[in-house]
Amino acid sequence: MIGAVDIGGTKVAVGMVDDDGRVLARAQTPSDGQNYAHGLEAIVRMLRETSAKVGQAITGIGIGATGPVDPIRGEFGDVDFLPGWRGKNLVGDLEQNFSARVAMENDGDAAALAEAGWGAGRNRTRLIYVTVGTGIGGGIILDGKLYRGADGAHPEIGHHVLDSSGPDCSCGFRGCWESLAAGPAMVAWLERHAPAGYLHRQGVTAKRICELAQEGDELAQQAVEHEAYYLGLGIANLISMFMPDAIVLSGSVMKSAPLFMGRIREVVRSGCRFVPADKTELTLASLGDDTNLIGAARVWHYRFTKA
Ligand SMILES: [Zn+2]
Repeated sequence: MIGAVDIGGTKVAVGMVDDDGRVLARAQTPSDGQNYAHGLEAIVRMLRETSAKVGQAITGIGIGATGPVDPIRGEFGDVDFLPGWRGKNLVGDLEQNFSARVAMENDGDAAALAEAGWGAGRNRTRLIYVTVGTGIGGGIILDGKLYRGADGAHPEIGHHVLDSSGPDCSCGFRGCWESLAAGPAMVAWLERHAPAGYLHRQGVTAKRICELAQEGDELAQQAVEHEAYYLGLGIANLISMFMPDAIVLSGSVMKSAPLFMGRIREVVRSGCRFVPADKTELTLASLGDDTNLIGAARVWHYRFTKA
């Protein structure tokens, strides 16, 4: 029984995950970004409670965390949402509390490992996991191994530039994929193009735009078309650069995938002429809302059993 810990900017979730990737118990609490000691205390408590609930001892602990993190040392870097966690070693602290082996990865990498091991990317040795929500992130698996950059760095696939005259991004560039195709980009596009008196402008969200598009709202349909075009361009770039067996798509925006997939495939087909792009399967993530917890557990298996 693996104790899984998913650390995000707004919540910390914990679960008990069996050897088949099933979540048998779960608990969560809001993230305390300022106070690491409180956060650690809550994680330890939730792990003990969920372990008691399933009536099994924890054999290991896997962590997926919003980054940047140092996956090998198990330390938090300069994470926007977790300033009080910087330099703290959660892996070491949990090892002390539970006398079990603990492993940590960036949450995008953890989710990529989960989809490759137990999800839609099973048996795909070259896989890119892409999550499209408030940002665009993911993880890259090449020849069955999680790809790491220099010094263990996690590659940021959401920040390749598609239009250098596009919107500003906190990464330092303009017009990177995230700034053009994450959920907030769709909202910003609609707000920019909505005529005076457009009824749905107030408080509109990416999810709402998708609903409006399905109901036949023309402006929302244009926003969806714009979104799908830029999703397609970014995916086409990943295909041209990596030629993976599969690209697994996830995240809140992808809950409306049927609105986007046709146009995404069309964009990919319109370019990518120097690679056999039709050999890359575009598929939706299959592990659902538990992907991050399942991913955290998979991190443990990947590190210690190479399952
Ligand atoms: Zn960027």
